[in-house]
Amino acid sequence: MKYAVISDIHANLEALLSVLSDIDALRPGFVVCLGDIVGYGADPNACVDIIRERNIPSVMGNHDAAAAGVTEPCNFNPAAREAALWTRNELTEENADFLAALPDSIETEHFLAVHGAISDPDKYILDYGDAEPEFYLMGRHRLCFFGHTHVPARHKSLSGPERFLVNPGSVGQPRDGNPRAAFLIYDTDTGIEFRRAEYDIASAQEKIIESGLDKRLAERLSRGW
Ligand code: ZN
Repeated sequence: MKYAVISDIHANLEALLSVLSDIDALRPGFVVCLGDIVGYGADPNACVDIIRERNIPSVMGNHDAAAAGVTEPCNFNPAAREAALWTRNELTEENADFLAALPDSIETEHFLAVHGAISDPDKYILDYGDAEPEFYLMGRHRLCFFGHTHVPARHKSLSGPERFLVNPGSVGQPRDGNPRAAFLIYDTDTGIEFRRAEYDIASAQEKIIESGLDKRLAERLSRGW
């Protein structure tokens, strides 16, 4: 079985279309999204429409929850809060309802999928210390995919049963110093392959600035952090 795992699209339509075009060429049997479909970028409805049309199962990210009105963006930084409220205003009622109904986790035969962490969708798994307690919450699963940090990562348990926590990185706002859109392919026969896709960064930046969103949200896309 071959899966594609995408995360943290953040309303970046150009990045999402580029990643999906690569994914289509790789022909996975199943695509799963780890949340934060919206927030920061200028195309929230177009991105949600694509996830819905393609029936891509997704978990709920903290930005999805804030944009859909499930939570208030109280603990967001000012640019993120402003973007969340802008997105809330932009979203169609149907798309807001769709985001509000997303689950906190998805299970397949081969893995568990969450946004931030199993213990808390808002937790950042930045290092082994953050990952360690999560290994004990994986139940029957040997593999758990997570997002939220926007940095590709792979943590392997150093004690107990062999378990893995893996982050594909971010489609729409990479933060590992590489501005190309990140995703991964998981082939249950051959393992995990981290991948990157070039996309039209300038167009995504232009739309953010035209929308009146914080221009730093545009600038960071060309730096990739
Ligand atoms: Zn995110």
